[in-house]
Amino acid sequence: MYNQLERLPREQLRELQNKQLQQMVSYVYERVPFYRAQLELNGILPEDIRSVADLPRLPFTRKQALKDHYPFGLLAVPREQVIRIHASSGTTGKATVVCYTRNDIELFSEVMARSFIAAGARPGMLLHNAYGYGLFTGGLGTHYGAEKLGMTVVPVSGGMTQRQITLILDFKPEVICCTPSYAQTLGEEFKKLGIAPDELGLKYALLGAEPWTEAIRADVDANLGVRSTNLYGLSEIIGPGVSQECIEERVGSHIWEDHFYPEIVDAKSGEPLADGQEGVLIFTHLTREAMPLLRYWTGDITYLTHEPCPCGRTHVKMGPIRGRADDMLIIRGINLYPTQVEEVLMGIPDVVPHYQVIVERKSTLDEVEVKVEVTEDLMRTLAQETLSEDSIEADAQARTLRNQIQYAIKSTIGLNMKVSLVPPGTIPRSEGGKLRRVVDMRIF
Ligand SMILES: [Zn+2]
Repeated sequence: MYNQLERLPREQLRELQNKQLQQMVSYVYERVPFYRAQLELNGILPEDIRSVADLPRLPFTRKQALKDHYPFGLLAVPREQVIRIHASSGTTGKATVVCYTRNDIELFSEVMARSFIAAGARPGMLLHNAYGYGLFTGGLGTHYGAEKLGMTVVPVSGGMTQRQITLILDFKPEVICCTPSYAQTLGEEFKKLGIAPDELGLKYALLGAEPWTEAIRADVDANLGVRSTNLYGLSEIIGPGVSQECIEERVGSHIWEDHFYPEIVDAKSGEPLADGQEGVLIFTHLTREAMPLLRYWTGDITYLTHEPCPCGRTHVKMGPIRGRADDMLIIRGINLYPTQVEEVLMGIPDVVPHYQVIVERKSTLDEVEVKVEVTEDLMRTLAQETLSEDSIEADAQARTLRNQIQYAIKSTIGLNMKVSLVPPGTIPRSEGGKLRRVVDMRIF
């Protein structure tokens, strides 16, 4: 079930990438005024870029460039050759528009089909696709990839949880695609209905579109009866299918680097970083037609590893996304990603991976509160009013647990945080879209 390109020996892969990159730099120089100007500004001619080792000579492409050239200013082909447009909605200002030629859509389907295979899916399996359909790339990207592989696709999209539950029970899908937080929501619903995971028949889950951790993986695997893997992507590069964890290892996601060349650079200096070092993930398109980007600054924080993978795929792996460079909170001078809090909570029994981080500024100091749900089991032994830190009757067990979490956070992250225990099911759940686990109430 492998595409031979996924197992190409590293030297041959490198040769292919060098050739593709040379062609790509000439292509955008000739067709995209923005890139011609960028290269000229830096005194670079297309023939100066001979291999991927020359990439650091090129400037980064920031998201701002896409906004500045909204909607079609970065097109390398006449608009008539574009057969699909997607857009990611920014919370402020104009959307980021991405365009696809017929070959780009074929490429999108190909990398998504590869991702499905890596995740355990096979032709003939039934897919419950709960990614949102529409301008967002998630739904249609996975849809075309699954059809290319020969799966049976149920394009249910996000939301309307009761209908999703019914369809899963009636159709018995083997594979599900959704955000990790929505997979948690579905798992809880089945639990409430008293339906055991092995009654569902689900085997594999491709989860993505938001950062997640091993704690959430364990939760989803247990409640849905699946082996879940990470599916990564972003619309500017293609959508989902930029990288995918292999079911054999489930440690790191293989980047389909015969199409998307990755680098990791320092968030401040922009200097390239070595394997294993955390920094900003950068991608250069090697094969896109409609809107290729050179050294695109994703803002996602992770690391790369070239260590051989037992699955036999030779493509480089990226670690889990720590967060987005712009999601990083600076609390009293210390950098904090919400996933760090999640990792700490994962090591503590009696709490479940549903949490919220609330940041407030009281007088001049930033204060952080972590709200975390206790397990059903623990809740049965506690009275609800004893959970709050301010309660005089605070239960000794609850107090011990709070102290344990506080200490673990202080010793791993280096910050004092207020910890509040809340009853199961009280923290807002995902409705199918992306979930924000951080509430920053500071006014800058
Ligand atoms: Zn692998």
